[in-house]
Amino acid sequence: MKVLFVADLHLSAQRPDLIRAFIDFLENTASDCDTLYLLGDIFEAWIGDDYVEAELQPVIDALLVTSKNCQLYFQQGNRDFLASTGFTASIGAQLLEDEVLIQLPSQQALIMHGDQLCTDDLDYQTFRSMVRSEPWQQQFLSRPIAERLQIAEHLRTQSKQQGQMKASEITDVNLTAVQQVMNLAQVGLLIHGHTHRPATHKVMLQHSVGCRIVLGDWDSTLWYLQCDEQGCNLIEQKINAD
Ligand code: MN
Repeated sequence: MKVLFVADLHLSAQRPDLIRAFIDFLENTASDCDTLYLLGDIFEAWIGDDYVEAELQPVIDALLVTSKNCQLYFQQGNRDFLASTGFTASIGAQLLEDEVLIQLPSQQALIMHGDQLCTDDLDYQTFRSMVRSEPWQQQFLSRPIAERLQIAEHLRTQSKQQGQMKASEITDVNLTAVQQVMNLAQVGLLIHGHTHRPATHKVMLQHSVGCRIVLGDWDSTLWYLQCDEQGCNLIEQKINAD
């Protein structure tokens, strides 16, 4: 069994190198995998399933090919939370809830994008509740594409500016929130992305010591998690510049 996880690729027309790297990843690393979990922020922005940048179409096509012999699962991130069943159908994937307990070859794991664990960032959590609400989404999706692109651009700029002003502890996960979700799910392994701080952490749980694996973002290197019967390995790889 080969189970793979990726998150925070932030694919966009502005990064053809990352688009190539991901297609390369699908054709090589993922060619013999049983399951591939896409844990959010695969795309830098997503304004609705009715609009796909032309540059991203090869990614959609490659994912659909991969789905023929590998089960694909997709969780929404804070950038691509509007990617819904229209999108997942186009890549042959199954859309997952925000927090899901899964069975890996070696153990159970709780998986999520991770932004919901950043509970110290109150502004962000307020924003998240708003944009994840049904009324906001219905209203946003009813707007013309050009208008949606403008709003998305505006929100991105705002979030970048706010992010720069925040202390790094605020934009990281809250440890109590981590312990809470793991204790509640009675699970010893948590896998998430979002913070762009790839690492494996020990977590003190109610009755045991658990493990939290944080996926890395794709930029100058790519990151993925590979799990099999022996356990899980967080892997970093160089991205070919040419
Ligand atoms: Mn994120």
